[in-house]
Amino acid sequence: MSRIVYVNGDYVPEEDAKISVFDRGFLMADGVYEVTSVLDSKLIDFAGHAARLERSLSELDMAAPVTTDALREIFRELVARNNLVEGMIYLQVTRGAPNDRDFAFPDPDEVPSTIVAFSQSKPGLADNPVAKIGQKVISIEDIRWGRRDIKTVQLLYPSMGKMMAKAAGADDAWMVEDGHVTEGTSNNAYIVKGGKIITRQLSTDILHGITRAAILRFARESQMVVEERSFSIEEAQNADEAFFTSASAFVMPVVEIDGVQLADGKPGPVAARLREIYLDESRKTAE
Ligand code: PMP
Repeated sequence: MSRIVYVNGDYVPEEDAKISVFDRGFLMADGVYEVTSVLDSKLIDFAGHAARLERSLSELDMAAPVTTDALREIFRELVARNNLVEGMIYLQVTRGAPNDRDFAFPDPDEVPSTIVAFSQSKPGLADNPVAKIGQKVISIEDIRWGRRDIKTVQLLYPSMGKMMAKAAGADDAWMVEDGHVTEGTSNNAYIVKGGKIITRQLSTDILHGITRAAILRFARESQMVVEERSFSIEEAQNADEAFFTSASAFVMPVVEIDGVQLADGKPGPVAARLREIYLDESRKTAE
């Protein structure tokens, strides 16, 4: 059975899911996206992702194509129609398809935004064995644009970063600017030192991770100490633990940075505990 995809109001088999070659998402990367994970056929932190989508759209003067309630229904319908138990819903909204290529934004009254959503089945997402081994990261220079707080589909450099990591025999890359780690190619970065959880403060330099917000809330509720500040690769290499968070990886331990093993080279207890708390708590509020 073919996957059912949502395209501009219709649910269609993936082979019939099509958009115009003039779509500004395709021509200009003029679009934003969200990835919401699904566990037990329920949406994890839908409210957080919907709120960030609204913010991304408004920062780019792009009209919201549907209400938050309608979006929840679309996501639920995709889960149901695709019998999705564990995986993700990918959502993309672009500034639509004018009838020609032009740098100027089209009039939103004439050109509606394009909305596409599809499911990705990932059985074993929560029980990922990699979380018990940890990942290796390399550092690369952060050469992205200055509005990383907007979740745009300009993912070429993060994609190149993953390839650089792969070529170096690692799993992912952490990006560095002015001597400090900004974030991972598709995740927020953390270190743990002396029991303190350290992660970069929010600004336009990083994406405001929905998982980051939840993790910091759960950590504080569990009386853990959180310090929101930037850190260098050297400090990370000397930390007791490191990890990253994202909607699809949840909490993933990091055991090696630029070839330097962290502590005993095994995932640390803080990352393991936070992963457990995150999965438990977010399952409780899943919708
Ligand atoms: N930073 C970047 C650059 C990302 O692409 C992502 C994942 N989309 C994150 C952080 C983590 O955000 P979230 O927890 O909302 O998935």
